[in-house]
Amino acid sequence: MSDFPQQLIDRFGRRVDYVRLSVTDRCDFRCVYCMAEDMTFVPKPRVLSLEELQQIGQAFTELGVSKIRLTGGEPLIRNGVMSLVESLGRLPGLRDLAITTNGSQLQRLAPALRAAGVNRLNISLDSLNSRRFRQLTRTGNLDQVLAGIDAAVNTGFQRIRLNAVVLRGRNDDEVPALVNFARDRGIDLAFIEEMPLGQISEHNRAETFMPSEAIRELIEVEHPLEALGDPGASDGPSRYYRMADSNSRIGFISPHSHNFCHLCNRVRVTAEGRLLLCLGNEHSVDLRAILRQPNATLDDLKHAIVGAMDVKPERHYFDHSDEPSILRFMNTTGG
Ligand code: SAM
Ligand code: SF4
Repeated sequence: MSDFPQQLIDRFGRRVDYVRLSVTDRCDFRCVYCMAEDMTFVPKPRVLSLEELQQIGQAFTELGVSKIRLTGGEPLIRNGVMSLVESLGRLPGLRDLAITTNGSQLQRLAPALRAAGVNRLNISLDSLNSRRFRQLTRTGNLDQVLAGIDAAVNTGFQRIRLNAVVLRGRNDDEVPALVNFARDRGIDLAFIEEMPLGQISEHNRAETFMPSEAIRELIEVEHPLEALGDPGASDGPSRYYRMADSNSRIGFISPHSHNFCHLCNRVRVTAEGRLLLCLGNEHSVDLRAILRQPNATLDDLKHAIVGAMDVKPERHYFDHSDEPSILRFMNTTGG
Protein backbone atom coordinates (compact mmCIF):
# COMPACT_ATOMS: atom_id res chain seq x y z
CA MET A 1 0.00 0.00 0.00
CA SER A 2 1.30 3.45 -0.81
CA ASP A 3 2.06 5.78 2.09
CA PHE A 4 1.65 8.88 -0.03
CA PRO A 5 -0.82 11.57 0.96
CA GLN A 6 -3.89 12.08 -1.22
CA GLN A 7 -3.28 15.83 -1.19
CA LEU A 8 -0.29 18.15 -1.07
CA ILE A 9 -0.55 20.52 1.90
CA ASP A 10 2.18 23.00 2.82
CA ARG A 11 3.31 24.23 6.26
CA PHE A 12 0.76 27.03 6.16
CA GLY A 13 -2.16 24.72 5.49
CA ARG A 14 -2.48 25.69 1.83
CA ARG A 15 -3.50 22.88 -0.48
CA VAL A 16 -1.39 22.70 -3.64
CA ASP A 17 -3.52 21.31 -6.44
CA TYR A 18 -2.13 23.24 -9.39
CA VAL A 19 1.18 22.86 -11.25
CA ARG A 20 2.56 25.06 -13.98
CA LEU A 21 4.94 23.07 -16.13
CA SER A 22 7.41 24.91 -18.32
CA VAL A 23 7.83 22.85 -21.46
CA THR A 24 10.72 24.88 -22.84
CA ASP A 25 12.56 28.10 -22.04
CA ARG A 26 12.80 28.89 -25.75
CA CYS A 27 10.44 31.20 -27.61
CA ASP A 28 9.78 32.59 -31.06
CA PHE A 29 9.16 36.04 -29.49
CA ARG A 30 11.40 38.23 -27.35
CA CYS A 31 8.88 40.33 -25.41
CA VAL A 32 10.59 43.35 -23.90
CA TYR A 33 9.33 42.72 -20.36
CA CYS A 34 10.15 39.01 -20.46
CA MET A 35 13.45 38.56 -22.25
CA ALA A 36 16.61 40.35 -23.20
CA GLU A 37 17.15 40.77 -26.94
CA ASP A 38 20.05 38.36 -26.83
CA MET A 39 19.15 35.39 -24.75
CA THR A 40 21.19 32.39 -23.81
CA PHE A 41 18.92 29.42 -23.52
CA VAL A 42 19.42 26.28 -21.48
CA PRO A 43 21.49 23.69 -23.37
CA LYS A 44 19.11 21.02 -24.71
CA PRO A 45 20.47 18.10 -22.61
CA ARG A 46 19.58 20.05 -19.48
CA VAL A 47 15.98 20.55 -20.57
CA LEU A 48 13.52 17.90 -19.41
CA SER A 49 12.58 15.37 -22.07
CA LEU A 50 8.93 14.97 -23.01
CA GLU A 51 8.91 11.69 -21.12
CA GLU A 52 10.31 13.34 -17.99
CA LEU A 53 7.68 16.06 -18.24
CA GLN A 54 5.00 13.39 -18.50
CA GLN A 55 6.39 11.59 -15.43
CA ILE A 56 6.30 14.81 -13.44
CA GLY A 57 2.70 15.38 -14.51
CA GLN A 58 1.82 11.84 -13.47
CA ALA A 59 3.54 12.14 -10.07
CA PHE A 60 1.70 15.35 -9.28
CA THR A 61 -1.71 14.02 -10.29
CA GLU A 62 -1.14 10.92 -8.17
CA LEU A 63 -0.60 13.35 -5.28
CA GLY A 64 -3.94 15.03 -5.79
CA VAL A 65 -3.03 17.76 -8.27
CA SER A 66 -6.01 18.29 -10.54
CA LYS A 67 -4.84 21.17 -12.69
CA ILE A 68 -1.80 21.42 -14.95
CA ARG A 69 -0.92 24.42 -17.06
CA LEU A 70 1.75 24.14 -19.74
CA THR A 71 3.77 27.25 -20.25
CA GLY A 72 7.28 28.35 -21.12
CA GLY A 73 8.96 29.99 -23.07
CA GLU A 74 6.51 29.23 -25.81
CA PRO A 75 5.14 25.76 -25.10
CA LEU A 76 3.71 25.25 -28.57
CA ILE A 77 7.06 25.55 -30.35
CA ARG A 78 8.52 22.54 -28.53
CA ASN A 79 8.99 19.61 -30.91
CA GLY A 80 6.58 16.82 -30.08
CA VAL A 81 4.56 18.94 -27.68
CA MET A 82 1.30 17.40 -28.94
CA SER A 83 2.32 13.94 -27.75
CA LEU A 84 2.96 15.38 -24.28
CA VAL A 85 -0.40 17.16 -24.29
CA GLU A 86 -2.13 13.95 -25.33
CA SER A 87 -0.49 11.87 -22.61
CA LEU A 88 -1.21 14.47 -19.92
CA GLY A 89 -4.79 14.68 -21.18
CA ARG A 90 -5.20 10.97 -20.37
CA LEU A 91 -3.99 11.22 -16.74
CA PRO A 92 -6.64 10.06 -14.32
CA GLY A 93 -7.37 12.75 -11.74
CA LEU A 94 -6.56 15.65 -14.02
CA ARG A 95 -9.64 17.85 -14.30
CA ASP A 96 -8.13 20.90 -15.89
CA LEU A 97 -5.46 21.00 -18.60
CA ALA A 98 -4.55 24.53 -19.64
CA ILE A 99 -1.93 26.21 -21.81
CA THR A 100 -0.47 29.71 -21.77
CA THR A 101 0.69 30.65 -25.23
CA ASN A 102 1.69 33.64 -27.30
CA GLY A 103 -0.77 32.43 -29.95
CA SER A 104 1.72 32.12 -32.79
CA GLN A 105 0.99 28.41 -33.39
CA LEU A 106 -2.70 28.33 -32.57
CA GLN A 107 -4.00 28.61 -36.09
CA ARG A 108 -2.36 25.25 -36.73
CA LEU A 109 -2.84 23.57 -33.36
CA ALA A 110 -6.07 24.80 -31.74
CA PRO A 111 -8.34 21.89 -32.80
CA ALA A 112 -5.73 19.24 -31.91
CA LEU A 113 -5.21 20.80 -28.48
CA ARG A 114 -8.93 20.74 -27.78
CA ALA A 115 -9.18 17.13 -28.96
CA ALA A 116 -6.29 16.17 -26.65
CA GLY A 117 -8.19 17.49 -23.63
CA VAL A 118 -6.99 21.06 -23.25
CA ASN A 119 -9.96 22.95 -21.86
CA ARG A 120 -8.53 26.41 -21.20
CA LEU A 121 -6.20 28.70 -23.06
CA ASN A 122 -4.49 31.90 -21.99
CA ILE A 123 -3.25 33.86 -24.99
CA SER A 124 -0.96 36.84 -24.62
CA LEU A 125 -1.90 39.98 -26.52
CA ASP A 126 -0.47 43.38 -25.56
CA SER A 127 -1.32 45.46 -28.61
CA LEU A 128 -3.67 45.57 -31.60
CA ASN A 129 -1.31 47.74 -33.57
CA SER A 130 1.05 45.72 -35.81
CA ARG A 131 4.01 48.04 -35.48
CA ARG A 132 3.70 48.33 -31.77
CA PHE A 133 3.08 44.61 -31.40
CA ARG A 134 6.35 44.05 -33.19
CA GLN A 135 8.14 46.50 -30.91
CA LEU A 136 6.83 44.87 -27.76
CA THR A 137 7.47 41.30 -28.88
CA ARG A 138 10.53 42.21 -31.00
CA THR A 139 9.81 39.35 -33.44
CA GLY A 140 6.06 38.72 -33.27
CA ASN A 141 3.58 39.04 -36.12
CA LEU A 142 0.22 40.44 -35.01
CA ASP A 143 -1.78 38.96 -37.91
CA GLN A 144 -0.52 35.48 -37.12
CA VAL A 145 -1.55 35.85 -33.47
CA LEU A 146 -4.96 37.31 -34.33
CA ALA A 147 -5.57 34.38 -36.69
CA GLY A 148 -4.55 32.07 -33.83
CA ILE A 149 -7.00 33.74 -31.46
CA ASP A 150 -9.80 33.38 -34.00
CA ALA A 151 -8.93 29.71 -34.53
CA ALA A 152 -9.10 29.17 -30.76
CA VAL A 153 -12.43 30.99 -30.46
CA ASN A 154 -13.87 28.93 -33.32
CA THR A 155 -12.59 25.69 -31.79
CA GLY A 156 -14.67 26.24 -28.67
CA PHE A 157 -12.54 25.92 -25.53
CA GLN A 158 -14.22 26.04 -22.14
CA ARG A 159 -12.51 29.35 -21.43
CA ILE A 160 -10.14 31.60 -23.31
CA ARG A 161 -8.43 34.48 -21.60
CA LEU A 162 -6.24 37.08 -23.16
CA ASN A 163 -3.29 38.27 -21.06
CA ALA A 164 -2.03 41.82 -21.52
CA VAL A 165 1.00 43.25 -19.75
CA VAL A 166 0.48 47.01 -19.66
CA LEU A 167 3.46 49.35 -19.65
CA ARG A 168 2.85 53.04 -19.02
CA GLY A 169 3.65 55.09 -22.08
CA ARG A 170 3.92 52.00 -24.30
CA ASN A 171 0.50 50.38 -24.57
CA ASP A 172 -1.68 51.88 -21.82
CA ASP A 173 -3.62 53.81 -24.47
CA GLU A 174 -4.79 50.48 -25.90
CA VAL A 175 -6.60 49.33 -22.78
CA PRO A 176 -10.09 50.28 -24.08
CA ALA A 177 -9.42 48.69 -27.49
CA LEU A 178 -8.24 45.45 -25.88
CA VAL A 179 -11.38 45.37 -23.73
CA ASN A 180 -13.57 45.83 -26.79
CA PHE A 181 -11.63 43.14 -28.67
CA ALA A 182 -12.32 40.65 -25.86
CA ARG A 183 -15.98 41.72 -25.58
CA ASP A 184 -16.53 41.23 -29.31
CA ARG A 185 -15.37 37.63 -28.98
CA GLY A 186 -16.98 36.84 -25.63
CA ILE A 187 -13.63 35.92 -24.08
CA ASP A 188 -11.93 37.04 -20.86
CA LEU A 189 -9.08 39.50 -20.56
CA ALA A 190 -6.57 39.86 -17.74
CA PHE A 191 -4.27 42.81 -17.24
CA ILE A 192 -0.97 41.92 -15.64
CA GLU A 193 1.31 44.28 -13.75
CA GLU A 194 4.87 43.85 -14.92
CA MET A 195 6.90 41.79 -12.48
CA PRO A 196 10.57 42.43 -11.73
CA LEU A 197 11.84 39.11 -13.05
CA GLY A 198 15.15 39.06 -14.90
CA GLN A 199 17.50 41.93 -15.64
CA ILE A 200 16.26 43.82 -18.71
CA SER A 201 17.62 47.01 -20.20
CA GLU A 202 14.98 47.85 -22.82
CA HIS A 203 12.97 49.99 -20.41
CA ASN A 204 13.03 51.21 -16.85
CA ARG A 205 10.47 49.17 -14.97
CA ALA A 206 9.92 51.84 -12.35
CA GLU A 207 8.93 54.32 -15.10
CA THR A 208 6.63 51.99 -17.03
CA PHE A 209 4.91 50.53 -13.98
CA MET A 210 1.17 50.73 -14.48
CA PRO A 211 -0.89 49.73 -11.43
CA SER A 212 -4.08 47.74 -11.93
CA GLU A 213 -6.07 50.53 -10.29
CA ALA A 214 -5.07 52.94 -13.08
CA ILE A 215 -6.08 50.40 -15.74
CA ARG A 216 -9.41 49.86 -14.04
CA GLU A 217 -10.11 53.59 -14.12
CA LEU A 218 -9.37 53.66 -17.86
CA ILE A 219 -11.85 50.85 -18.50
CA GLU A 220 -14.56 52.35 -16.32
CA VAL A 221 -14.76 55.44 -18.52
CA GLU A 222 -16.66 53.22 -20.99
CA HIS A 223 -17.60 50.09 -19.07
CA PRO A 224 -18.47 50.14 -15.36
CA LEU A 225 -17.00 47.08 -13.64
CA GLU A 226 -18.65 45.04 -10.95
CA ALA A 227 -16.33 43.00 -8.70
CA LEU A 228 -16.85 39.25 -8.74
CA GLY A 229 -15.49 38.79 -5.20
CA ASP A 230 -12.12 37.69 -3.92
CA PRO A 231 -10.03 35.49 -6.13
CA GLY A 232 -10.94 31.87 -5.52
CA ALA A 233 -8.34 29.17 -5.78
CA SER A 234 -9.50 28.30 -9.29
CA ASP A 235 -8.97 31.82 -10.54
CA GLY A 236 -5.53 32.10 -9.03
CA PRO A 237 -4.29 35.59 -8.43
CA SER A 238 -6.69 37.27 -10.87
CA ARG A 239 -9.32 39.53 -9.37
CA TYR A 240 -12.23 39.39 -11.75
CA TYR A 241 -14.85 41.94 -12.66
CA ARG A 242 -17.83 41.77 -14.96
CA MET A 243 -19.54 44.27 -17.19
CA ALA A 244 -23.32 44.53 -17.14
CA ASP A 245 -23.68 43.93 -20.88
CA SER A 246 -21.07 41.26 -21.65
CA ASN A 247 -20.04 37.70 -20.79
CA SER A 248 -16.38 38.68 -20.88
CA ARG A 249 -14.72 38.96 -17.50
CA ILE A 250 -11.95 41.44 -16.86
CA GLY A 251 -9.19 40.26 -14.54
CA PHE A 252 -6.33 42.05 -12.83
CA ILE A 253 -3.16 40.32 -11.75
CA SER A 254 -1.47 42.66 -9.34
CA PRO A 255 1.52 41.15 -7.59
CA HIS A 256 2.56 44.65 -6.49
CA SER A 257 -0.72 46.09 -5.35
CA HIS A 258 -2.38 43.02 -3.88
CA ASN A 259 -0.88 40.20 -1.97
CA PHE A 260 -2.52 36.95 -2.96
CA CYS A 261 0.00 34.64 -1.32
CA HIS A 262 -2.43 33.43 1.35
CA LEU A 263 -4.51 31.85 -1.43
CA CYS A 264 -1.55 30.32 -3.26
CA ASN A 265 -2.37 26.80 -4.44
CA ARG A 266 0.35 26.39 -7.02
CA VAL A 267 3.93 25.42 -7.71
CA ARG A 268 6.00 25.68 -10.87
CA VAL A 269 8.43 23.36 -12.62
CA THR A 270 11.05 25.00 -14.82
CA ALA A 271 12.09 23.54 -18.16
CA GLU A 272 15.20 22.24 -16.37
CA GLY A 273 13.12 20.40 -13.82
CA ARG A 274 13.52 22.74 -10.90
CA LEU A 275 10.42 22.65 -8.74
CA LEU A 276 9.89 26.27 -7.69
CA LEU A 277 7.74 26.69 -4.65
CA CYS A 278 7.08 30.43 -5.16
CA LEU A 279 7.32 32.76 -8.15
CA GLY A 280 9.05 35.44 -6.08
CA ASN A 281 11.49 33.30 -4.10
CA GLU A 282 14.32 30.96 -4.97
CA HIS A 283 13.21 28.00 -2.83
CA SER A 284 13.34 24.97 -5.08
CA VAL A 285 13.92 21.24 -5.40
CA ASP A 286 15.78 19.65 -8.31
CA LEU A 287 13.38 17.09 -9.77
CA ARG A 288 15.60 16.45 -12.78
CA ALA A 289 18.38 15.16 -10.54
CA ILE A 290 15.92 12.68 -9.06
CA LEU A 291 14.52 11.63 -12.45
CA ARG A 292 18.00 11.05 -13.84
CA GLN A 293 19.28 8.90 -10.98
CA PRO A 294 19.88 5.32 -12.10
CA ASN A 295 16.82 3.17 -11.39
CA ALA A 296 14.73 6.19 -10.36
CA THR A 297 11.07 5.37 -9.79
CA LEU A 298 7.92 7.43 -9.80
CA ASP A 299 7.80 6.98 -6.01
CA ASP A 300 11.20 8.72 -5.68
CA LEU A 301 9.75 11.67 -7.54
CA LYS A 302 6.64 11.68 -5.38
CA HIS A 303 8.72 11.62 -2.18
CA ALA A 304 10.65 14.65 -3.38
CA ILE A 305 7.46 16.52 -4.22
CA VAL A 306 5.85 15.76 -0.87
CA GLY A 307 9.05 16.88 0.91
CA ALA A 308 9.13 20.10 -1.08
CA MET A 309 5.91 21.26 0.55
CA ASP A 310 7.97 21.96 3.68
CA VAL A 311 10.01 24.62 1.90
CA LYS A 312 7.17 26.52 0.22
CA PRO A 313 7.56 30.10 1.49
CA GLU A 314 4.69 31.94 3.11
CA ARG A 315 4.79 34.87 0.69
CA HIS A 316 6.85 36.89 -1.76
CA TYR A 317 7.92 40.52 -1.75
CA PHE A 318 8.12 42.50 -4.99
CA ASP A 319 8.80 46.22 -5.13
CA HIS A 320 8.33 48.70 -7.98
CA SER A 321 11.96 49.57 -8.35
CA ASP A 322 13.92 48.84 -11.47
CA GLU A 323 15.99 46.23 -9.67
CA PRO A 324 14.86 42.71 -10.36
CA SER A 325 13.99 40.96 -7.11
CA ILE A 326 14.68 37.69 -8.84
CA LEU A 327 17.29 37.21 -11.52
CA ARG A 328 15.41 34.45 -13.29
CA PHE A 329 13.68 35.55 -16.47
CA MET A 330 9.98 34.87 -16.74
CA ASN A 331 10.56 32.44 -19.60
CA THR A 332 12.65 30.20 -17.37
CA THR A 333 10.11 30.36 -14.59
CA GLY A 334 7.08 29.63 -16.71
CA GLY A 335 4.89 32.66 -16.13
N1 SAM B 1 4.98 32.36 -24.19
C1 SAM B 1 3.73 32.23 -23.54
C2 SAM B 1 3.00 33.55 -23.47
O1 SAM B 1 3.61 34.58 -23.74
O2 SAM B 1 1.81 33.55 -23.14
C3 SAM B 1 3.82 31.62 -22.17
C4 SAM B 1 4.95 32.06 -21.27
S1 SAM B 1 4.90 33.75 -20.76
C5 SAM B 1 6.32 33.85 -19.74
C6 SAM B 1 3.52 33.77 -19.66
C7 SAM B 1 2.94 35.11 -19.32
O3 SAM B 1 3.88 35.83 -18.58
C8 SAM B 1 2.58 35.96 -20.51
O4 SAM B 1 1.24 36.35 -20.42
C9 SAM B 1 3.49 37.15 -20.39
O5 SAM B 1 2.88 38.32 -20.86
C10 SAM B 1 3.78 37.19 -18.92
N2 SAM B 1 5.03 37.86 -18.55
C11 SAM B 1 6.26 37.65 -19.07
N3 SAM B 1 7.18 38.43 -18.44
C12 SAM B 1 6.50 39.14 -17.50
C13 SAM B 1 6.87 40.10 -16.52
N4 SAM B 1 8.13 40.51 -16.35
N5 SAM B 1 5.89 40.58 -15.73
C14 SAM B 1 4.59 40.18 -15.86
N6 SAM B 1 4.20 39.28 -16.75
C15 SAM B 1 5.12 38.76 -17.58
FE1 SF4 C 1 7.99 34.45 -25.26
FE2 SF4 C 1 5.85 34.53 -23.72
FE3 SF4 C 1 8.16 35.59 -22.89
FE4 SF4 C 1 6.84 36.77 -24.82
S1 SF4 C 1 6.12 36.50 -22.73
S2 SF4 C 1 9.05 36.33 -24.81
S3 SF4 C 1 5.95 35.09 -25.87
S4 SF4 C 1 7.80 33.48 -23.26
